[in-house]
Amino acid sequence: MLGTMQDRPLVLPHIFERAEKYSSRKEIITGDATGGVQRRTYGEWADRTRRLGGVLDQLGISEAGRVATFAWNTANHLELYFAVPCSGRVLHTLNIRLFPEQLTYIVNHAEDEAIFIDRSLLGLIGPLLDTFETVKHLIVMDDGAPTEFPAGHEFADYEELLAGAEPVEFSVDDENRAASMCYTSGTTGHPKGVIYSHRSTFLHTMGAMTADSVGVAETDTILPVVPMFHANAWGLAHAAVATGASLVMPGPQMTPPALAGLIESEKVTIAAGVPTIWMGVLPELEGRDLSALRLIPCGGSAVPKALSEAYRAQVGLPILQAWGMTETSPLASVARIPSTLADRPEDELIDLRASQGPPVLCVGLRVADQVTGEELPWDGETSGELQAAGPWVTASYYNDERSPQSFTSDGWLKTGDVAVITPEGFVKIVDRTKDVVKSGGEWISSVELENEIMAHPAVAEAAVIGVSHPKWSERPLACVVAAEGSEVTKEEILEFLDGRVPGWWLPDDIIFISEVPKTSVGKFSKKDLRERFGDHVLPTAGD
Ligand code: ADP
Repeated sequence: MLGTMQDRPLVLPHIFERAEKYSSRKEIITGDATGGVQRRTYGEWADRTRRLGGVLDQLGISEAGRVATFAWNTANHLELYFAVPCSGRVLHTLNIRLFPEQLTYIVNHAEDEAIFIDRSLLGLIGPLLDTFETVKHLIVMDDGAPTEFPAGHEFADYEELLAGAEPVEFSVDDENRAASMCYTSGTTGHPKGVIYSHRSTFLHTMGAMTADSVGVAETDTILPVVPMFHANAWGLAHAAVATGASLVMPGPQMTPPALAGLIESEKVTIAAGVPTIWMGVLPELEGRDLSALRLIPCGGSAVPKALSEAYRAQVGLPILQAWGMTETSPLASVARIPSTLADRPEDELIDLRASQGPPVLCVGLRVADQVTGEELPWDGETSGELQAAGPWVTASYYNDERSPQSFTSDGWLKTGDVAVITPEGFVKIVDRTKDVVKSGGEWISSVELENEIMAHPAVAEAAVIGVSHPKWSERPLACVVAAEGSEVTKEEILEFLDGRVPGWWLPDDIIFISEVPKTSVGKFSKKDLRERFGDHVLPTAGD
């Protein structure tokens, strides 16, 4: 008989124990709400994480119970990242930028039993607490903010709970057990939940460590500006723990000067965030010592060529573009230039860096005809829907009957992005079929915004498209048809929307047209509108 390998499960306690045993003197640095930074070693972190496991037991969180976080990127959040799944529960990171109805929906849909909240974020979540049906425990992590505690609710203090708990042993036997979940808000309707298993998270962590993807190593000091509530902070938090890399967590200190200051003072080697972040930070980097910085991974929206080139000119490093989705854990492709293309002329290299790149190991990407579903050639010209498969690509949405329409018959994820693939296997996103606007890395649903505009009595039709914006990547432009015999102004519509949608959803401009172009089946033709108004210069473009 042929010998076989031992069947050891790929579970998060293994990653946790590595940091505890081998990296105990390395540090996690967190910015707090007072402008200061707190330092915690991995050794202290590991002890607290085991105690947190004890806290979850004491609170009576059920086996596989969902534990939510409403928090910045902090060392405390990293404790939750491991204590929850390593004790068999499921971590549910709540996106602090979702709007109230969405937060209520996802907390109730996931049936969260407890929420761990940063004190500085209490004001955001406070008004919603009464709408949560299953939450039994509210725990506050004091980040030094003077925020008042919302009346009428009981809050436990994170530090007091930890001090009163015993450290626990972690063990998870089944690698396919759920470890965490994240909801992604999309085109219409409620956000959809994606469940990450121990195995998918473990493999994704290793994916972030391969040298030709992000290549996280023990020698790195990582600043994840990408939120821990958004698609696993792109795998960087787990990869840091797995390798023992130092972590610099900005906490609420998200302003460009604060981030630039952390990069310099903590000698950050990898700093990752969406394009909007890097646009804001660039002027703040002037004159600073950035000699430690070796990589600036960026994704969530297309990285403008000019931005990457500006970093190359000023910092000496182009931005490393990555593409992914909440559904793909998210790391799926990275635009690293292989040695076989390194001798191409400079302008071609610039174009390659501005593409989404080839898939990382374990992930398959293909483009398919949007009507027939047939796979399309890698000719760099024929565009089709981008589809993804792999062990860290979701196979369904959590308890959601909309699941089937997002997958092909052979199980590939339909991404809603439209792309070409070059003969070398580089993906270039050219369009999107999902009807959303992505502003600063977060989604605005065009359809919901349109519905709110059309609720105005003087509006007959409204169609919203995303228009490129130098700071936010995209901002909404509303194309409005006034009701017959009515007159309405941009200011009246904006005033009407105030309070009906989150402030950051308000269209940057409203243009009035005589008719919204329609497709053959009578739907708003966003493609036509994008062709007509895609170049529209928003009045906010110079801000
Ligand atoms: P994330 O923002 O972490 O990538 P989301 O699930 O919120 O995750 O959004 C995924 C979508 O964001 C993709 O389907 C795509 O439309 C867009 N996106 C992500 N990365 C890029 C990129 N590098 N270039 C263009 N679009 C991107």
